[in-house]
Amino acid sequence: MNVAEYLQYLQTEYFDNRSDAIEFASHTTGIPYTLISVNLNEHVEITRETKQKLARINADEPLAYVIQNKNFYGLDMYVDENVLIPRPETEILVDEALKFAGKRENLRVLDICTGSGCILTALMSSLPDSEGIGLDISEGALDAAKFNADTHGIAERVDFVKGDALRIKELGLGTFDIVTCNPPYLSESEWLLSAKSLKYEPKNALSAGKDDILFYKKLLDMIPYLCNKNGGGAFFELGIGQYQKLLDSGYAKDCSVTKDYQHIERVVSWINL
Ligand code: GLN
Repeated sequence: MNVAEYLQYLQTEYFDNRSDAIEFASHTTGIPYTLISVNLNEHVEITRETKQKLARINADEPLAYVIQNKNFYGLDMYVDENVLIPRPETEILVDEALKFAGKRENLRVLDICTGSGCILTALMSSLPDSEGIGLDISEGALDAAKFNADTHGIAERVDFVKGDALRIKELGLGTFDIVTCNPPYLSESEWLLSAKSLKYEPKNALSAGKDDILFYKKLLDMIPYLCNKNGGGAFFELGIGQYQKLLDSGYAKDCSVTKDYQHIERVVSWINL
């Protein structure tokens, strides 16, 4: 079969949208994503390995794990089952942090719950003279984050620390100009009810347990100590309805919020004035 027929086959049998089919085809043929459309007549062999990968897709495993890649903020990020797959909404957090950074130089950045390191890698790639720390409790996640930092040439400017986000003060990391975090924020029941594909992702990166706003309460209590005085800022990703929940619990009154493309309050920002 040729690439055109292969795409047709992938799309009818395995993928709901064409871009996923193209991504899979690109991964299995080695033809770059953007060159697939000019190589439609190339011959394609469906190997045993491809068939095994398609069986994983059939079992609802996310495409990003099968091809071990997800594009985030224009960067190819390595992902495996130790890390949450970067989501497009999280790019809004990066946008907000970069808007806040403006033209300032030599910033110190802390990314809590760094996972694949996608936020830190995107920030460091856009802030060439800055330094950063990525914190995570999972050794496997830190391995993936280090790999991504290496791939994107930022490894000399970042350190990775294994530690518990909720006990960050004990780590004595100093103060920062920018603090970011995309914590686990699904409640236990939301996680239980979530789609099968989410069950492939590390539970401790998705579910905060019984109290879905626990991380935010702890982080918001800690940020005055973590953010530099006169111009440090913190940016946290939120789940649906959590901004209101925080306000109702007496938190985030001095924060601003940014909505995502679905008009969901997605990023909460706090500036140390
Ligand atoms: N955005 C993810 C989801 O809803 C959750 C990410 C997180 O918990 N940080 O699937």
